[in-house]
Amino acid sequence: MISPFRILTKDPQSKARTGLLYTKHGFVQTPVFMPVATQATVKALTSQDLSDVGAQCLLSNTYHLYLRPGTKTLKKLGGLHKFMRWGGSILTDSGGFQVYSLSQLRKITEEGVLFRSHHDGSKHLFTPENVIEFENEIGSDIWTMLDVCIHAKDPAKRDAREALEQTKRWAVRAAAQYQKTVPQQNITQNEDGSFAVGNSLLFGIIQGAVFPDLRKEAALHMASLPTHGYCIGGLSLGETMEQMNESVLAVTENLPEGKPRYFMGLGTPVEILNCVERGVDMFDCVWPTRVARNGMVMTDEGRMNIKNACFRLDERPLDENCDCFTCRNYSRAYLCHLFRSGELTSHRLLSIHNIRFLTRTMERIRAAIENGSFKSFKEEFIRKYQ
Ligand SMILES: [Zn+2]
Repeated sequence: MISPFRILTKDPQSKARTGLLYTKHGFVQTPVFMPVATQATVKALTSQDLSDVGAQCLLSNTYHLYLRPGTKTLKKLGGLHKFMRWGGSILTDSGGFQVYSLSQLRKITEEGVLFRSHHDGSKHLFTPENVIEFENEIGSDIWTMLDVCIHAKDPAKRDAREALEQTKRWAVRAAAQYQKTVPQQNITQNEDGSFAVGNSLLFGIIQGAVFPDLRKEAALHMASLPTHGYCIGGLSLGETMEQMNESVLAVTENLPEGKPRYFMGLGTPVEILNCVERGVDMFDCVWPTRVARNGMVMTDEGRMNIKNACFRLDERPLDENCDCFTCRNYSRAYLCHLFRSGELTSHRLLSIHNIRFLTRTMERIRAAIENGSFKSFKEEFIRKYQ
């Protein structure tokens, strides 16, 4: 299956690369950080804020949108882009991770996963087929397949094997359902190498916990199915950095080069750099906005907490190198005051800064790969940040 992904530059010293992923809402420059719009919004931010900080693609959650407002409701309202007034791309996760982490009484059968809503306890069934239908109703640009994610820090290999086998069987069914739902993908390559994309794309999810042999097997299986790209799921759940790096490498070494790879739920700058080095192109995480609401600010020199008394008379911006709305307009003293007074504006202003910090970091990563200095950029970044 043709993937509307163009690799622009490859780093000669690592597996890092820059590229363009085309969707029905334009293109996404990779490596990319995708802010998380769980409930059709990135907490405390408007879609205008997100455009202003350079967000290209948002991640939204099928599980949450299915339960509220309901994917049928979203379809009636013209889809998620129109609903939340977002003109860029949207990727939806399959809901698998939320079913395993949020809902009660989940039961996995061959057919799918039966679970109770975390809102009202009502019963629901997700199958590989109906999740594709829900994503179609949402109207997102990139759809992902239902998977079995073991939500454990240190899973037994037997459990990881079982989850992987189920994920593989469901992936075959999801790919078939995608073909039924989107028989014409309308992907054409123009003379200048760009793509025109008329429909939603499909990404498969690679599981296998922290076992490199299972990861390799999962990657090879997914590579044999018709998809436009790949998600790496079931990591960043408390494993060591070494386990994560090994698992990622076992995946990227066994995938076709010309399709994008997305690490689900990873968003600290150092982890992103490690994964970019190993050939990952896309990232998302709630972490930068979650910590922003607790007063945590990311800068080139590491993290700081704006609530600290030392900022009460500090007239500098959060980060002298940052071009975001918050840094261009407000002092640390003002933001410290807003936080200490419990003012909600502080959540918005710090979220704007933290997301801009990550989108700017990705811009710098792309520039470093393009001018052949990724390795030295990474070392210098980590030296200052830690
Ligand atoms: Zn800023």
